[in-house]
Amino acid sequence: MAKLENKIVLITGSSRGLGNAIARKFAAEGARIAINYNHDRDSAEKLKNELPGSEIFQADVSDHASVTCMVNDIHNKMGTIDILVNNAGIFSAFSWDEFNDEKIRKIFDINLMGPIYMVKECLPDLKKNHGIIINMASNAGVGTAAKGTTIYSITKAAVAMLTKRLAFDLMEWHIRVNAIAPGWIESDMTLGGKSAEEAEKLRQSFKSRTELNMIGKPENIADAALFLASKESEYMDGQVLVVDGGRIDNLTHSL
Ligand code: NAP
Repeated sequence: MAKLENKIVLITGSSRGLGNAIARKFAAEGARIAINYNHDRDSAEKLKNELPGSEIFQADVSDHASVTCMVNDIHNKMGTIDILVNNAGIFSAFSWDEFNDEKIRKIFDINLMGPIYMVKECLPDLKKNHGIIINMASNAGVGTAAKGTTIYSITKAAVAMLTKRLAFDLMEWHIRVNAIAPGWIESDMTLGGKSAEEAEKLRQSFKSRTELNMIGKPENIADAALFLASKESEYMDGQVLVVDGGRIDNLTHSL
């Protein structure tokens, strides 16, 4: 029996990268995917054509009205949402000398307000059917050290806390809420716009920062997401699952 038979799963930012891999993994387990994209319609269309029963929905998760429209469209075209994967996010690295209000507002709006708007609009559905929420945090938000990533890390630490608080707030509806904190994973976010030489240097650099001496792939995160979406994790709630190859550059000063 497939693990997610007939489940309707909304995955934000599933046109590319980690969200795309999660969509493929979940669809292979019988789920119907509401593929959310913001700009990359072509990639979203391509994915839809590969995943039977899926539909695409444009929305900017940082715009509450746009999220509301998308959820209404999903009701009309697919039905009630069973599982929400808050995956959409952006990365931006800058030092305190490069501080810029606009950049900071944008990263908070997408990485933090996005999941908040999504939860707000999907809650009536999730309350009906003991739904599941999976948030995409980051190991940056739980302590790994890379220069220039302080603001990004704060947004992801907030996503980790959002996960814990939501699990508590929603316990009466038996909605399980967990997060994944990926390490460095190959995607447009980490390798986009880099030359082949730069990309290889980055791969080797991050590989050397893991105990397992491995480069993370989107499929590693999709495996963790499937675990959190399925019965195998039925006794887990409010947790942040770190999937990072065992990062050794960690700023956490206590265990
Ligand atoms: P990516 O390759 O850059 O893909 C980002 C996805 O998010 C795209 O599908 C993009 O859609 C979507 N998106 C961005 N802004 C959006 C918005 N305002 N509204 C709706 N969708 C939006 O990134 P990724 O590496 O797959 O990362 C996915 C998530 O994992 C992010 O939350 C990221 O912070 C987290 N993460 C990634 C890594 C890593 O190493 N890759 C590590 C830790 C955590 P369009 O292209 O259609 O605009």
